[in-house]
Amino acid sequence: PDERETLTWQIFGEASRSLAQAIHEDGYEPDIILSIVRGGLFVAGALGYALDVKNLHTMNVEFYDGIGSTLDMPVMLPPVPNAIDFSEKKILIADDVADTGKTLELVKDFVKDHVADVRTAVIYEKPNSLVKCEYVWKRTDKWINFPWSTLPPVTKREGQVLDA
Ligand code: 5GP
Repeated sequence: PDERETLTWQIFGEASRSLAQAIHEDGYEPDIILSIVRGGLFVAGALGYALDVKNLHTMNVEFYDGIGSTLDMPVMLPPVPNAIDFSEKKILIADDVADTGKTLELVKDFVKDHVADVRTAVIYEKPNSLVKCEYVWKRTDKWINFPWSTLPPVTKREGQVLDA
């Protein structure tokens, strides 16, 4: 059996369109899409066009291994958005995957006191996620290969002339 779930760029296009369709059919009309950097950027960009939402914000959240890797928790990295920007707004938080759900929980908690409504959209949700997302394209318990993070960062090619 396949131990990995692979999302290709092609399927990502279809998944994000289908996610947008579900959000639209549900009648949710977000004022702001809040993207969780970096994986959520792709989803947020695609949803922004498909839902005709131009107001996109980003939040930098990184998952940190605590001492001895027992204290795994996500932390916000600067620049942290101004919560005032979200007051009385309908927010759609976009990310690639809800795994433990801790990242989405942190972001939801950050905005929840100020907003008119907050909902979450992800391509994948895993069964143990403590945040149950309103909009999910697919549920899986496998490790996911995303098209944007499957390849390692580019390096200088051997023998390449850069200043020709
Ligand atoms: P959380 O556990 O807070 O829900 O997810 C934290 C982050 O871990 C995700 O935003 C994503 O970057 C990464 N992550 C979790 N599960 C997977 C996975 O199956 N594949 C990949 N590539 N990243 C994952």
